[in-house]
Amino acid sequence: MDLGIRGKRGLVCAASKGLGRGCAEALAEAGVDLVINARGAEALERTAREIAEKHGVSVTPIAADITTQDGRAAVLEALGGQADILVTNAGGPPPGTWTDWSREDFIKAIDANMLTAVALMQALVPGMMERGWGRVVNITSQSVRTPIAILGLSNTARAGLTGFVAGMSRQVAPHGVVVNNLLPGIHATDRADSLDAGVAKSEGIGIDEARRRREATIPTRSYGRPEDFGATCAFLCSQQARFIVGQNVLLDGGASNITI
Ligand code: NAP
Repeated sequence: MDLGIRGKRGLVCAASKGLGRGCAEALAEAGVDLVINARGAEALERTAREIAEKHGVSVTPIAADITTQDGRAAVLEALGGQADILVTNAGGPPPGTWTDWSREDFIKAIDANMLTAVALMQALVPGMMERGWGRVVNITSQSVRTPIAILGLSNTARAGLTGFVAGMSRQVAPHGVVVNNLLPGIHATDRADSLDAGVAKSEGIGIDEARRRREATIPTRSYGRPEDFGATCAFLCSQQARFIVGQNVLLDGGASNITI
């Protein structure tokens, strides 16, 4: 299927690895020129080179912490202040228990997983509205629909972003800008490996056993793949997605047993 976005310009945050990389790959395959971001320059530059060579698009790597104002400024400068497509993403907060977290922990999580996405939308969506076309995908989590107790910081911050998007997506839709959230369940990335390691430690089992137990909670009996996640993201950025507005699209292999 031709997604109709060849030649568009996009920003994919936190994209040297994992789900962000999956999104960058799929958008590049659809012909989108990209700015991609992560903190570590080496992996980011390698990823940018690989994607550009494979798909024949321009991929500019900007090594910066996207959760800081300076990091966002560097990324926005590389875009000349405008983009047609924005994919927001950042690392997830650490697991723990509800008594663990201080005010500073909450502020850090809210900065990373709510206010960073809000700031990037506030910077880039006005230009999309002026030009009459734009797509935004925020990578959030299945925890928005089915909160995960040990990920309380993530539950809290992402719920805030979800509420923000519910309102603003309807305000910008009349101007041709489509904003949605993409909710990963467990995907095979470094983040999943570190959560597996946490389960292994807390339950006194090996990592393979921890993974097997977590896979058993998913009806597909396997973790999701970043490339499939990326393909869904690219579809939400397509011309054909113009009527999908303000949705929370769950990609979890059926793990969340909910009907709406
Ligand atoms: P990942 O494999 O650990 O990859 C994270 C990527 O983000 C890396 O490229 C990393 O590069 C970059 N990054 C992290 N913090 C950053 C920051 N402050 N500024 C810029 N780049 C940053 O993670 P993932 O599995 O793709 O997860 C992506 C998001 O989805 C996370 O918020 C995670 O909580 C959420 N999620 C994941 C799953 C899952 O099963 N994988 C499930 C639910 C939700 P650097 O370290 O070099 O910056």
